[in-house]
Parts: sequence; C-alpha cells; structure tokens
Amino acid sequence: MSHEIRTPMNGIIGMASLLKGTKLDDEQREFIEMLETSSLSLLDIINDILDFSKIEAGKLELDFVELNLFELNKDIEHLFRLRTKEKGLTLECNVDEQLSPLLMGDAPRLRQVMINLVGNAVKFTQEGKIAVHIRLLKETGDTLTVQFEVEDTGIGIPEDKQQAIFEKFEQADGSMSRNFGGTGLGLAISSQIVELMGGKLELESEEGVGSRFFFTATFDRAAVPESTPIDALMFSDAAMLLVDDSRLNMRITSAQLSNLGCQVTCCVQPEDAADMIAERMETSKPFKIVILDKLMPQSDGFSIASTLRKRFGKRCPSLVMITAAPEVHDNVKLESFNIEGYLSRPYKFNDLRSTLTRILRNQQASLGVISLSGVKKEKPKTVARPQESSSYHGRVLVVEDTLVNQRVTQAMLLRLGVDVVLAENGKIALELCKTDSFDLIFMDCQMPVMDGYQAARLLREYGYASQTPIVALTANATSQDREECLKAGMDDYIAKPVSKADLEKMIKLHMPGAEIERAGWV
Ligand code: ADP
Repeated sequence: MSHEIRTPMNGIIGMASLLKGTKLDDEQREFIEMLETSSLSLLDIINDILDFSKIEAGKLELDFVELNLFELNKDIEHLFRLRTKEKGLTLECNVDEQLSPLLMGDAPRLRQVMINLVGNAVKFTQEGKIAVHIRLLKETGDTLTVQFEVEDTGIGIPEDKQQAIFEKFEQADGSMSRNFGGTGLGLAISSQIVELMGGKLELESEEGVGSRFFFTATFDRAAVPESTPIDALMFSDAAMLLVDDSRLNMRITSAQLSNLGCQVTCCVQPEDAADMIAERMETSKPFKIVILDKLMPQSDGFSIASTLRKRFGKRCPSLVMITAAPEVHDNVKLESFNIEGYLSRPYKFNDLRSTLTRILRNQQASLGVISLSGVKKEKPKTVARPQESSSYHGRVLVVEDTLVNQRVTQAMLLRLGVDVVLAENGKIALELCKTDSFDLIFMDCQMPVMDGYQAARLLREYGYASQTPIVALTANATSQDREECLKAGMDDYIAKPVSKADLEKMIKLHMPGAEIERAGWV
C-alpha cells in the first residue's frame, strides 16, 4: 500500500512546491500554500494510518541501526525550538553525559515517539515549560537501560481519560481536538513502538497542572568499526592544532591524536591560535582540524571559534570543541560557528576517532578526492552558466515510470541547474547507459518491464555506468530496503515523496565538484 499511496502523494506535494516557485498573484499563492499545508498534513495522517495497519497486522518490526542519543536530543531541541519560542514556552532538553553516544536501536522509530510526545506537550501547553530528559538508568555489560521523559506544564489529562488516550482514535476531549488538530493515533502508535523496544509508555498527569510521559528502553552498545586502511592514510595526512590551556588535558588528547597517526601541534596560548593557523596556511600542510577547549581562562573556545571563522572565512579549518562542562545552550553556538564536532570529557577514544573520521571524510568528499567507494576522482572543472537560479552542473538520469513523478523530479533537478535525461523503466535506462554517460542516476525501485533493483544489478554487471553513483527512490525507507538497494549495486537512497532538498543533498554527496561557485564565474 505504501507505494500506491506515496506515489500520488509525491505528485501532489511535489507539484504544489513547484507551482509555488512560479509567477503567482497573491490569491493564487494563498491557495497553493493551503494546498501544500493540507497535503503535508494528509501525508502525516497517511503515515500514521499506514503505521497503525502495520501494527495491527503484526508487521511492525524494529530496525536496528547505529543510534546516537545526543544527536536525537539535539534534533528534538532544534525541531521544537521555534514553535516553543513562538508560544512563549521554555524548552529544556537534557541528556545524561555518561551515556555512550553510539548504541544500536531503531533511531527513526525512537525519534517518531519523542516527536509525538514533545509535539503533544507543546500543543497542550499554553504557558510554562516543556522538559525532555534522557537518562541512563542501568548499564550491564554492553546493554544500557535508558529512561526517556517528556514533562509539560499544560492542561493535563483527567484521571478517567488517562487510560483511554493510549487507544487508537481516542482523544481526552473531542472538542479539544478540533481546537488543536490531530487524529488520536499518535500515542497508540508510540506505545506499541515502545513495547517493541522492551518498555512501557506511562503517564502521570493532573488536570490543570501538567503531564509527564515516560518510558524505558534497552539498547546494546554499538561496536565502533576499526580504522580502515583508507582512514589510516587520511589521519597520517592530517595536521591538527590543539588549543587548550590545561597541559594535562593537552597531553591526553595529543597522545590520542598521535595514536591515530595525526600530526599534532599544541597551542597553550589561545590568542596565538589564529596566527599559527595563518602561518601554516602558507605551507603545504595547513591545519585540517582545530580542536578547541571550551573553557579557558583568557578567552573561551566559542570566542576563538568566532574569531577564526571571521578571519579565515571559507578557508577556516574544521572546528571541534571539547568541554568538561557541556550545556544545553551550547547547541546554538555550535551551529552558529559551524563547529562540526563536540566531545565532552571524559570522552572515549572511539568517540574522538569517529568524530575526526567523519570530518576528514566530509572534507575529502567535498574536495572530490575520494568517492564513497574509495576510488580517486578528479575534481571536474567548474563551467560557467549564465542561469541565475542554477547552482550545480552535470548530467543526471532519472529512471521513473509515473509521468507525474517524472515531471516533479525533472523540474526540481532542472531548478538545481543540472541536465536531466528521463527513462521510463530499467530496460530503457540500461539501453541509454550503453552509449551515454551520466554523473548520477536516480532510480525508482518499483517499475514495470524492469524494476530498479534488476536495472542496477545489470548496470553494474555489464560495466555500463560502472563509476556512476545510483541513488534509489524508494517508497519504504527501512534498512531492509536500503540493504536491498545496496546489494543491487546502488550507492544511496531517498524516500518518497522526494523534495528538492533531498535531491540537492544527493547531488552534493555524489557529484563532488558539481557546485558552481557563485562569486567569480570561472
Ligand atoms: P493526537 O494528538 O493526534 O490527537 P495522540 O494519540 O498523540 O493523538 O494523543 C491523544 C490525546 O491525548 C490528545 O488528543 C489529547 O487529548 C491527549 N494528550 C496527549 N498528550 C497530552 C499532553 N501532553 N497534555 C494534555 N493532553 C494530552
């Protein structure tokens, strides 16, 4: 069902967003915006109903992937920051520092539960505070028991309704739902997901005072993969500057960096950091990453980050911050100074390694040095294009059977500036790739004549488009789907309905060097 429903939804949402970008008078714009909001809320309802029918058919299964509770916490705060601010509410999101950042769990489903709980808290609270806590309750060997809690100072739920709201299509007060919207499915789905995670969704609430929803879940610690030879090479090539006033911390971190094979330079006078970076920029070994301590007596890490960003602009090395005193509000500054890594002491060696690996890989991908498969690629020359709206160049093949979706994807890609070739099914794509070459292929999975999996397999087997990344367009974004796509030889996937931002993300990731510099046409 998911495919049958999402395909026309993709068409409706995609067309509305495209129409919004055309010349419209005020009334037309208002109508389109209503169409867009209505179709997005219809999609939410459809997603809820599809989830629920999965639950009823006993088909909802968890999908274990790497889960980072710190990122989840940051995500939630990010997502609700604006809405709570608009309502004049305080939002507090806390996560236990002792929690291991890498666990195995169903990250999207956990996120869904938390979004439902925090979304309700915001919806039913007019003044006061929403507090989110993620706490470590127990750690046995490699298994962690974590408690999640969402507390609000909202309208509360009468005692006689506290059981019923966990049932499907139940709301504490029907008239309330007309005021606030919603289907009454969220909590029913959330409590089933929590049960699959080995916990129980519980509630304490007092009418007029507020509500507290909480549950526990158990997770296994994720094994951190050993460095690959490519990573080792990457580290040995990386010069890093460590800025910290504490000699003891400096010794610990620099020993860890040396263990990874990095070349470390220490700076105990934070005010010297910028000059040291500038000096190295003139050599063949500029600093790739600068690691800053947050709290230093003279100037704190954030003000140094701000100075470095201002002085070096685009040439600024990547920044990582380490702190023994993490604060919720750090998130805002991390974002505004574009600090790419954040570690709190005492951190684990593996956390340092995975943070640096991620940053160095991103740097290499954006330089076009290494593609995801590890094959060296040359950075293509930037080509001048007189189109104001375009920002990428390259040739993209879109393999898609539905006419509406063809048009949506094509139009979004054309707006991104790339050239688009369409193929109606896998067989036609295969024929095209025999004689023609593309920089990227977007491949629908379910198509008549030849589906996307088969087409990708044959493209790889016959060696047509052997270097071209293939991104699957799938209706279901589970890890089984992803595995099936990868097994068929595809490199990545995006879930339908696709947005221009999704397509752009894939172009950035898989067509390194395709971005056209705005300042100074080449
Ligand atoms: P929906 O919010 O979509 O109607 P839910 O299943 O998420 O569906 O919630 C069911 C009902 O439980 C809501 O309609 C509301 O009456 C009540 N409820 C849920 N969370 C809260 C909360 N934090 N404060 C007050 N009432 C709540």
